[in-house]
Amino acid sequence: MIRTPEQYVKDLRDGRVVYQDGKQIKDITAHPPYKESIERYASEYYLSNHPDYRSLFNVVEDGEEYSFMYKVPQSGEDLQRRRMIIQTLNRSLAGGSRLTGIDGLNGVAWAARKMDAAMGTKYAANVEGFRKWCQQHDPSICAAVSDPKGHRALHAEDPKQKHKDFYLRIVDRKKDGIYITGCKLHISESIMTNVLVCLPSRNHNETGKDYALACAVPVNSKGVTFLATDSELSRGGGHPMIIFDNVFVPNEMVFMAGEWQFSRLMATSFARYHRLTAATYKYVQLQGLAGLAMLLAEYNGLTHATRIRDMLAWLAMYADVTEALGKAAALDAKIDPETGLAAPNEVYSNCAKFWFAENFHQAVKYVEDIAGGIAGTMPSIKDWENPEIRKYIDKYLGGDAQYPTEDRLKALQMLRWQGSMFMGILSIHAEGSLAAQRMTLYQQADWEKFKAAAKHQMRMPTDHPDFKEMPLEPPWKMPAKL
Ligand SMILES: Cc1cc2nc3c(=O)[nH]c(=O)nc-3n(C[C@H](O)[C@H](O)[C@H](O)COP(=O)(O)OP(=O)(O)OC[C@H]3O[C@@H](n4cnc5c(N)ncnc54)[C@H](O)[C@@H]3O)c2cc1C
Repeated sequence: MIRTPEQYVKDLRDGRVVYQDGKQIKDITAHPPYKESIERYASEYYLSNHPDYRSLFNVVEDGEEYSFMYKVPQSGEDLQRRRMIIQTLNRSLAGGSRLTGIDGLNGVAWAARKMDAAMGTKYAANVEGFRKWCQQHDPSICAAVSDPKGHRALHAEDPKQKHKDFYLRIVDRKKDGIYITGCKLHISESIMTNVLVCLPSRNHNETGKDYALACAVPVNSKGVTFLATDSELSRGGGHPMIIFDNVFVPNEMVFMAGEWQFSRLMATSFARYHRLTAATYKYVQLQGLAGLAMLLAEYNGLTHATRIRDMLAWLAMYADVTEALGKAAALDAKIDPETGLAAPNEVYSNCAKFWFAENFHQAVKYVEDIAGGIAGTMPSIKDWENPEIRKYIDKYLGGDAQYPTEDRLKALQMLRWQGSMFMGILSIHAEGSLAAQRMTLYQQADWEKFKAAAKHQMRMPTDHPDFKEMPLEPPWKMPAKL
């Protein structure tokens, strides 16, 4: 089924426990500061029902229509289509409430199959049962991966940790399911979703096998509490802490419960999909950042200046390289013979995420340079709204006469948001910190090939298949007589 926006909103009234700025919100749909976010997420369902988007957003199988997001990705084209949907949603100021959860579902599907094959467990059937349920009910789902961790260099179960619950863990096992306790941090849009796909954030040892845990948890389950992001930092609940206090998870919603050998694979399988999602939505944002720089240059009358053009060219490159890497990662997908799942090229998707995260502050620096100091010192929008003083702002904060002062002020305000601490931290840490990409790139790099390339350039023979048959001298020799 495809839910309507009205159904999406109705389903948010399910008794979920949410605290915002110290107070409990009984019904998030009646909380005015959340309205804008709810409209954004509900708009994904509106577009999914719209005749102009239906064929892109949905698929029909055996006469049943369901969201393309819940289809098993089977090719690079499937991954690219998901990218098109995400970017269409972004450009439509819509979507987000199931952005991360799909990566969680595909990651868990991948890892559960591998685990079943190696250990004789039966988790893949649970994952596919959950996927089927998603196809039939069209929920929003969120990946809840990041744990609070405590002392980063210690394992979860290490007695030197302040307590045992820095990583989500199984505290009790019953015949019909498990009980879990702990916390997940920074879980984007999760207050506006229906189901949390909980995954481990790292490897765990045999002694820490109760932390090797993956499962799906409805947000209104008894014992689940959301502590929303400070409203000064983020809107619509943001990226909350989620407390799990002895939450029951029935067997059919459990995707891993103690198989510590596969904990790392659960985490990395999710990341494999999620880094591509990051590069996908980020491109739309970075297009906006490059455009903002050009608009500010135009408002300041400086588009002719070489030094400004140099920065603009860099910003255009910054956005387009992110997209090129994302597209390459999707279209150069590998189809895993064991699972049948298509996975993006992990090297390209990690390059994409690293590229935009590593350079985000540089990009903002350029836009700030182009804008001038007024972005940091301008009067408030409330001054603009006061007719007694608006005339001064209009007169003195105008730039090139071709453009209204108000446009320049809006652009300056947008720069304040783009350059905010939140946006900088989001770029670096969301979808995994820079070290996570470096580690993956180091592990995934084809060092044998790189070494063979180096040897070949030094005219040294090598057994590597790419170079073995390649000549060590230019294949054409100049005849003595020529
Ligand atoms: C806006 C935002 C949205 C997010 N959304 C989600 C979401 O929807 N779902 C989700 O699951 N997570 C989400 N995250 C979490 C994100 O994935 C993490 O913030 C990220 O993985 C970094 O983890 P951390 O914050 O615990 O920082 P840390 O892991 O503490 O990293 C801080 C620094 O310490 C380094 N470091 C950490 N451990 C070690 C070690 N053992 N040895 C050496 N160096 C180390 C890191 O490389 C980094 O430089 C989000 C984060 C943000 C900021």
